[in-house]
Amino acid sequence: MTDPTPKAHSLQPAALASAAQPDPKVSNFLRQIIEKDLEQGTYASRRWAGSPGDAAHHAAGAPDPAKIRTRFPPEPNGYLHVGHAKSICINFGLAQEYGGVCHLRFDDTNPEKEDTEYVNSIIDAVKWLGFSWSQAGNDKAYQASDYFGFMYRAAVALIEAGHAYVDEQSAEDMRANRGDFGKPGVDSPFRSRSVAENLARFREMKDGQLADGAAVLRAKIDMASPNINLRDPAIYRIRRATHHHTGDTWCIYPMYTFAHPIEDALEQITHSLCTLEFEDQRPFYDWLMERLCECKLLAAPSPKQYEFARLNLTYVITSKRKLAQLVTEGKVNGWDDPRMPTIVGLRRRGYTPESLRLFADRIGVTKSDSWIDYSTLEGCLREDLENKAHRGMAVLDPVKLVLTNWAEAFGAEDYTEVCSQPALPHSAIAEGQTPPPDRSFQIGKEVWIEREDFEEVPPKGYKRLSPPQKNADGTASAGAVVRLKGGYVIECTGCARDAAGRVTEVHAKVIPGTKSGTPGADSVKAKAAITWVAVADGVQAEVRLYDRLFSEAHPDAGGKDFLASLNPDSLKVVTAYVEPSLAQAQTDQKFQFERFGYFVADRLDHVAGSKPVFNRVTGLKDSWGK
Ligand code: ATP
Ligand code: MG
Repeated sequence: MTDPTPKAHSLQPAALASAAQPDPKVSNFLRQIIEKDLEQGTYASRRWAGSPGDAAHHAAGAPDPAKIRTRFPPEPNGYLHVGHAKSICINFGLAQEYGGVCHLRFDDTNPEKEDTEYVNSIIDAVKWLGFSWSQAGNDKAYQASDYFGFMYRAAVALIEAGHAYVDEQSAEDMRANRGDFGKPGVDSPFRSRSVAENLARFREMKDGQLADGAAVLRAKIDMASPNINLRDPAIYRIRRATHHHTGDTWCIYPMYTFAHPIEDALEQITHSLCTLEFEDQRPFYDWLMERLCECKLLAAPSPKQYEFARLNLTYVITSKRKLAQLVTEGKVNGWDDPRMPTIVGLRRRGYTPESLRLFADRIGVTKSDSWIDYSTLEGCLREDLENKAHRGMAVLDPVKLVLTNWAEAFGAEDYTEVCSQPALPHSAIAEGQTPPPDRSFQIGKEVWIEREDFEEVPPKGYKRLSPPQKNADGTASAGAVVRLKGGYVIECTGCARDAAGRVTEVHAKVIPGTKSGTPGADSVKAKAAITWVAVADGVQAEVRLYDRLFSEAHPDAGGKDFLASLNPDSLKVVTAYVEPSLAQAQTDQKFQFERFGYFVADRLDHVAGSKPVFNRVTGLKDSWGK
């Protein structure tokens, strides 16, 4: 598969669309094609026997209850990434929208690189995204290797009809004789073999009598075709390799370009949707379908291939091979590292299925390659979580704040009081919806605040904590008055420092009677509200601050060494304090940490209550490209 070539422009999200209701303003030319086919009844005569099969098999079946059939055909040679998520959403989404069925099919015709580990991860990823391929109680995923027997029959039928021959030229001769864009190809000396001789040689290939690479079966089309893919493409090769599913049954394997149309046809696919790099293969797809319908092996009408632009996302690599390199070279911690654009990585990072579906919907389906800004993906996540993720306070860079008059104000040093705040703001609650119960947390003499929320000598315009100042003109100003969000208003009095001059404690006085939600709350005006967590009930947490994995927008464009632009600061781990509602988070639960953005309780490492671990999904606002 070729690498995407960067284009100067970026596609910005079109209008706002909801995930459930496709937005007509977002371009998707595939809808028009499908609607036209439905209107004209292009596929109305199709029958479906309940399982994939040849023409005779389906002829015995009932009219197909599925209005259209699409398929998502991954090769199980790696973990799926965000580009595949687009393809999954297109294929399953269109089938859903038009009363059709989408098949999950493992395109496992290449024995060397495939593995059941990948098969299972793909099944998980599609289900997690919220799609299902079950029909009439059958939720079997199909696999191309189940069709090897038919593919062999199809190859024999092509030979018998004079449409294929066994070529024994060396690989170099075959390449040289194929010609190029300016030069027609040269016929192989084996091209005019008799049908009987071809059949015998092909059987020898299958029976293991020829060495790997000694011969290939080629379709006999046109060595002078301007489309090089039609210059007698190879359709079968000899490869002694153990297949993860069929074991050592076969030593010949079909080429992808031969296998794929056949897989589609056996499954009665109507619209075979793929990425643009397959455009040049379409004439062969159609040629093969016509030949196999002529010899009555396959049922007409045949599936048709349509191509759309693959997803290119800035700052992201979407090539399984290169992602594998990041994993094997230890640049990330596995396929599910939260910095990886794999579906398992995005999931661990805190992306939701809804946000990925919204993203796929919003970027639309087009025929020309473009780059999507990473911020579009983040925007979809924020939009999904805005009204769902409970709020909570966390202090990521803690320094202790001591309320020096606490005992005087409340009667005892160890006095604590319960504060409560809504889990979701009023604006996030839909009409008629019951708001979730409030969160509660304590306030006491000591609380954790952000180190950056105190300045001994405040810069101009600084609204957070600073002690009383002697001004240049001889006047004095009082200590800053701020609110501990959801708690009391306090007035800053000073700080303590260690020998190195680093602030070890901030000091302030609590102003009794000003607690949030009480009648006196507004009696004292605060310049700002700051986030905090009480020492009494705050829980230490590991927070993993993720950033983009690459510092270049197009890390692998033009064959560049993408490892050269790895962002050295893509992960920063801090020890934070979180309020009790966050410490009790369920695994995978998402939150908005007030002022910081969206965080998720890590799927693998978080232990509710005793060892909270959070991943930053994304900040509150778009911080990209700034
Ligand atoms: P890679 O190049 O990363 O190995 P691939 O295309 O070889 O990807 P497949 O497993 O063959 O991976 O892909 C399954 C389906 O997903 C195909 O239909 C393919 O066109 C589609 N797909 C792969 N990458 C993208 C992408 N970036 N955007 C949209 N669709 C994609
Ligand atoms: Mg592929």
